[in-house]
Amino acid sequence: MRPITKPASNSHYNPPTSLDIGGRAGVLLHRLAGTASPRATFTINLSRVLDLLLENAQGVNFPGFTKAEQDVLVAGLMTQITRIYKTAAAPLTKDLGAFCSYCGSNLPGLIEVEHTVPKVFYPTFATDWDCFLLSCGPCNTSKGNNPKRADATSWSRLVAPTEQELYDEIRGGRYLWPDRDHTCWQDLPLQLEYFDTVSNDWVPLSIPEDTDLDNVLTAYDVINHTVLADICVGGSMKHNVQVAVTVQGSAGKPWTDDMIELMQFNDDVVNPGTGTYDRRQMNRTRAWFDALGACRLLTLATDQAAFDLLWQQVPMMGASSGFYSVWVTVLERFSDFTGARYASRFVAETNDPLYYPHTSTTHLPH
Ligand SMILES: [Zn+2]
Repeated sequence: MRPITKPASNSHYNPPTSLDIGGRAGVLLHRLAGTASPRATFTINLSRVLDLLLENAQGVNFPGFTKAEQDVLVAGLMTQITRIYKTAAAPLTKDLGAFCSYCGSNLPGLIEVEHTVPKVFYPTFATDWDCFLLSCGPCNTSKGNNPKRADATSWSRLVAPTEQELYDEIRGGRYLWPDRDHTCWQDLPLQLEYFDTVSNDWVPLSIPEDTDLDNVLTAYDVINHTVLADICVGGSMKHNVQVAVTVQGSAGKPWTDDMIELMQFNDDVVNPGTGTYDRRQMNRTRAWFDALGACRLLTLATDQAAFDLLWQQVPMMGASSGFYSVWVTVLERFSDFTGARYASRFVAETNDPLYYPHTSTTHLPH
């Protein structure tokens, strides 16, 4: 996970203070307000909309409303809220780069504004810039509407926590958030594993065999999500074995495992029923071999000047590959002619709007 220093605001994201709501939801708002002669549209403050959504999330019945009527009104209000927060997608992309804030996937196409604290259960923050990160589809789907209100309430240990207290509970150490926890790169270490057909189990490759420059990707299969590679194990090469890069938690830091579970980072799932499928682990594994390929390219240099020339390709390769944390992990193992770690240079030079903007570099190799 790439630690990010997300700016506190963006001048291109400006939620309106009031909304004009028409249609069935407008009529229902008139009724809720007791307006004598309802017009087609109802003008309402954004904060009031969020309060109504919160009451709904808390299980409050709107006075005089059937469940079906309340559902129609809530759906109408949520449509308006969705229209607002989606306008944060471009400003977020400008600030954070077109990458999933969680898994690190490159997002050349559809980018989803992700509510760190889910909007359905905590609508108070549904249009708050601070609540947003960027997400790929599989991360957004995996996270769903978790955590639930009952969970956050029990964590807070307060009798009647405020919405802000629930927000702070979720965002303040319950999980590992890339914009809050700047140690997230080392707290979620990555591991290259291979499937051993003798023991019929996954086996982690040891350091430095996991970054042996003879390790090469030989094939990948988007149907079965398998990645095959030639890898060095115990000093000899194994050919066309199945490999996977997994995300590990940190001992003594249960919130790292909670984040892995929340995002289902290692659950590579094909779901023919919905047509959605999860390529995160496959692509993370491919990125490992992309990064090794870059390191192999750099070994062609015979002196530092030649190295510097070849290096010019590396930030670009890293940004187009995605999975920043994979790149830093692999590059950390190699040094140039001056003894400088590849990873340090990568971290410094990619912290740029061209590549990976607003990286928090304090706890990265430097
Ligand atoms: Zn993702």
